[in-house]
Amino acid sequence: MAEELNPFKIAQEQLDRAAKMMNLDPQVHQFLREPMRILEVSIPVKMDNGTTKIFKGFRVQYNDARGPTKGGIRYHPQETLDTVKALAAWMTWKTAVVDLPYGGAKGGIICDPKNMSKGELERLSRGYIRAIGRFIGPERDVPAPDVYTTPEIMAWMMDEYSKIVGYNAPGVITGKPLEVGGSLGRGDATAKGGMYVLREAAKKINLDLSKATVAIQGFGNAGQYAHKLVREMFGSKVVAVSDSKGGIYDSNGLDYNKVLEHKEKTGSVVNYPGAKNITNAELLELNVDVLIPAALENQITEKNAERIKAKIVLELANGPTTPEADVIMFKKGILDLPDFLANAGGVTVSYFEWVQNINGYYWTAEEVYEKLDKKMTKAFWDVMEMQKKYNVCPRTAAYMVSIKRVADAVKARGWV
Ligand code: GLU
Repeated sequence: MAEELNPFKIAQEQLDRAAKMMNLDPQVHQFLREPMRILEVSIPVKMDNGTTKIFKGFRVQYNDARGPTKGGIRYHPQETLDTVKALAAWMTWKTAVVDLPYGGAKGGIICDPKNMSKGELERLSRGYIRAIGRFIGPERDVPAPDVYTTPEIMAWMMDEYSKIVGYNAPGVITGKPLEVGGSLGRGDATAKGGMYVLREAAKKINLDLSKATVAIQGFGNAGQYAHKLVREMFGSKVVAVSDSKGGIYDSNGLDYNKVLEHKEKTGSVVNYPGAKNITNAELLELNVDVLIPAALENQITEKNAERIKAKIVLELANGPTTPEADVIMFKKGILDLPDFLANAGGVTVSYFEWVQNINGYYWTAEEVYEKLDKKMTKAFWDVMEMQKKYNVCPRTAAYMVSIKRVADAVKARGWV
């Protein structure tokens, strides 16, 4: 990965920008530039062919001033410690912007889940929890799903942790299946939270979402549900979607159920009947009202930001935009809703799940969505208020809201 696209360097640069604007205390700034704790673990796994393979895993607990650290676990062949560090920093700002009583963390394992059997994945997931078990817990650090990890994997991890401590501990991990303490509404929470933010953003710039066109990059949990919900909730037309193999475009709109069926049958959205195949890069530059990056990091950079035509960019992925691209899009008048605000719906419903686990009392889906809407709407307007006051891009404004909350907690604890 090119040095300038190192996600952790980017996360630090974003922090520095906001710290400067708000005259942040230099000692607090220095403290917030680095994670509080990094774990690197080696996980031996018995493979189906009888050999043992050693996997490397990470858990970064970035900052716990506001509460237990919180954040997902990614399984990815190109996972690096610096990516996990960046993602852990972003979790810290994410939980703060929606005002959850949490800090931020992230985990990752270098592995290729697409080429592992279910049994191998289960043994790897349980092995990871045995390796980091004494450092996590409902009051310490609470993992969740992320790229290529699923509710099923969360169930194995929760079970392994429960075996270690000797009692049932559903609150150690969120994003679990309903049968073992999951919350209603967690499955589509990231996209749903994004939709509430999009609704408010459209109000702000007077965009009629019922007539809007939408392009979505990425067909994982967030991207898929965004496709479904933007149509259901607002009547917008999704004209392009993509996955890691490429994208498709149809100006008449793409039907969610049919695209999903095609993807399930063929393994990709590419070659969907009636649509034109496009690249992931082309998708980003389409002439649409709303662009939703919902895949991986560093997609909108100084190389293509000038050609982005959307009025609103809703970042459901983590880290899709570089700092140079932020400046370009802000100058162009694009309302770019930063990742840790736009995709905070996932961790917000994770928080609701954790609260329900602790109380042993479970809510209806309506209650979950109503509370999620309130959290996301308030966070959006908190950021807009900050933006107006300082005339900065929405990302820097969101950082300023979050940094203030974390810095206040750091000071109140007497750390600095
Ligand atoms: N992995 C999700 C994120 O990046 C959810 C984290 C969580 O629920 O803790 O926000």
